Amino acid sequence: MKKIIIAIDGYSACGKSTTAKVCAEKLGYIYIDTGAMYRATTLYFKNHLIDLTNPKAVAKGLENIQISFHKNHKTGTIETHLNGLNVEDEIRKMDISNRVSEVSSLAAVRRQMVALQQKMGKKKGIVMDGRDIGTVVYPKAELKIFMHADEYVRATRRQQELLAKKQVVDLDDIIANLKKRDFLDSNRAEGPLKKAEDAYMLDTTYMMLDEQVEYVVNLATSKILDSMKIEAEMADLDRLSI
Ligand code: C5P
Repeated sequence: MKKIIIAIDGYSACGKSTTAKVCAEKLGYIYIDTGAMYRATTLYFKNHLIDLTNPKAVAKGLENIQISFHKNHKTGTIETHLNGLNVEDEIRKMDISNRVSEVSSLAAVRRQMVALQQKMGKKKGIVMDGRDIGTVVYPKAELKIFMHADEYVRATRRQQELLAKKQVVDLDDIIANLKKRDFLDSNRAEGPLKKAEDAYMLDTTYMMLDEQVEYVVNLATSKILDSMKIEAEMADLDRLSI
């Protein structure tokens, strides 16, 4: 069957990753968490004391970063590896959440990540979530979704996720982090968080995961059918012009 690209962008912690993951499973697509790439880069910069104001140090750091995703066959989850080490738990900690937006605002960082993300989706059949997927990484994605949700709802969901990973974090700290990241992510010069004009808006405040997945999968199905129709029409035109 014809494969498409599904781009899911939106504010922090409104359910993008969880929705994208389940949609990818249902469609037999590959899920790519671009936030994890910026988080892994942040972890590397932090561990190597990279001065973010020094472009040479940033460029050198970027040369030494290798990010990959691996399936954990025990849990069935996808885990982020940085230079061969599993950093999945570490990159979700508040310390990284509090630093990531400064790192992701650097043009050199964005250039490298965007190039990698474009390479990953060459064969289509991907669900990619982030902030600039529908605007910069895949402006021609067949399906674009822009997610948002009430701030308090997002924060409590994130608190539960962290709790499931045995991290106890105060709700006020989570709200402050979401506010700060949304502000920095929306106001940076390169690839700011913004809705692509042709993206479908999805407010997840009162939605369960199943409903979010159903909404995206239904849209994806109709986009796949549209692409197949266009392909068939092109083939007809080709035949007629012979
Ligand atoms: O998706 P997640 O919340 O894990 O993303 C962490 C951070 O990575 C965001 O706050 C943002 O600064 C950065 N990011 C980005 N562009 C993307 C994905 C994430 O700038 N496509």
